[in-house]
Amino acid sequence: MNDSISQVQSRKNMQPWLSLSFILLLAGGWLYYPLGYFLLACMAGAMGIGMVKGRYWCDWLCPRGSFFDTLLSKISRAGKVPALFRHPAFRLGWLAVLMTMLTMQLIPVWGDFYLMGKPFVMVLTITTIVGTFFGITYHQRIWCMFCPMGTMANWLGRGKMPLTINDACSQCGTCEKVCRMQINPGSYQEVGQVKHGDCLKCSYCVDSCPQQALSFSDK
Ligand code: SF4
Ligand code: SF4
Repeated sequence: MNDSISQVQSRKNMQPWLSLSFILLLAGGWLYYPLGYFLLACMAGAMGIGMVKGRYWCDWLCPRGSFFDTLLSKISRAGKVPALFRHPAFRLGWLAVLMTMLTMQLIPVWGDFYLMGKPFVMVLTITTIVGTFFGITYHQRIWCMFCPMGTMANWLGRGKMPLTINDACSQCGTCEKVCRMQINPGSYQEVGQVKHGDCLKCSYCVDSCPQQALSFSDK
């Protein structure tokens, strides 16, 4: 077992625990609103790591992403996601809607530490319902294709921790099949680097490539 395989496996092993913590936090948030501030920690994590490693956070460190991978994947149709869900205008629209919703709900309770947690719980709940609905209909990771935090990490992390592809690629398509973000690394062979801002830096494709054509040049 090489180093990247053991890394992938250890991250996969962590996901059920993160998934469980996500469910407990979400349910607990309706009993104790300040648990909703957990969303702020996720925002800081996604954007902080985003500046250095792109969307690395969204692979396994995001508890909701782990929930999608471990539980939602079992009931998802796991089909092709329509391009609309990744379109910049659609993503910007979600960012604007959620920020507006959060702001409108925070204004009346501003200054009350306990009640200010409620809008975060509400946003977390609504977005999880949306992600679950579309996740079952299309693919378990569809929410991650337009999640506002993922979009910010995408913008902040362009060019960071690049996934490179060499001439050994035989265009077999295996990497595309294992990619949860439905990226086709093989299609970037001519440019030598997978220039897709939604890459989760998960190494699933690196491990599955029969030609060992893929690698991360900056781990
Ligand atoms: S799995 Fe490897 S050889 Fe196959 S298309 Fe992807 S990069 Fe190319
Ligand atoms: S392109 Fe490879 S590293 Fe990036 S998200 Fe897809 S499988 Fe993971």
